[in-house]
Amino acid sequence: MTAKKRIHVMPIAVCDSCGGALSVEAPLFHCALCNASPRRRSFARIFREGRIAPQQADAKALCIAEERANRDRIATHFAITPAALYGHRHGKGTVEGVDVRDLAPFADASFDLVTAVGVFDYVDGADRAFASVARVLRPGGLFVLHILGHLMHDGDAPPRLNKTLFSSDTWLSHVPRDVPVSTFFYTIGWTTQALCDAGFAPEVVRHDDPVGPQTWFLARRN
Ligand SMILES: [Zn+2]
Repeated sequence: MTAKKRIHVMPIAVCDSCGGALSVEAPLFHCALCNASPRRRSFARIFREGRIAPQQADAKALCIAEERANRDRIATHFAITPAALYGHRHGKGTVEGVDVRDLAPFADASFDLVTAVGVFDYVDGADRAFASVARVLRPGGLFVLHILGHLMHDGDAPPRLNKTLFSSDTWLSHVPRDVPVSTFFYTIGWTTQALCDAGFAPEVVRHDDPVGPQTWFLARRN
């Protein structure tokens, strides 16, 4: 009696950041080859699809607390101004002390692209912040917004507090000690409507990464 050879076929997906294979059955959060997070993989796809391509040669981008891999991609097509509320680790020449709710250092209609990828997760007052992003974008400019999957749900409810963290959490080590940082739950319906109210025409794009859906708001300034 011969044992039948069992061939276990593992469905795979492709890492959009490096092109390597991702297991679908036992997906790793970070790509085993390039270490890209689901968000970074998904951003690479958004970028490669030409969804944030500039409309003219000397296009300017404001990148709010953007991670390096995404900045490097954006810098191939845009002149970048990096900005962050705390610290200067978001790229050379980072404008520090920038609150997305007013974007005070920046003039009206001064950018063609604003990215906030993993920023609004922590913003108390998103509607005010959408208005300030609209202010600094030129008409026709694009706002790229991503909020982590576990904070972004279906429905129309307004944002609500998830929990409050402090700089003792490793990924918040750049935040001054004792400054509380809260995260918020969002809904796709509320976010879409709030972007419309702030003067955008938003498109929602969802990628089904093996570890969970990645939701993007690509909001064109009216
Ligand atoms: Zn990869």
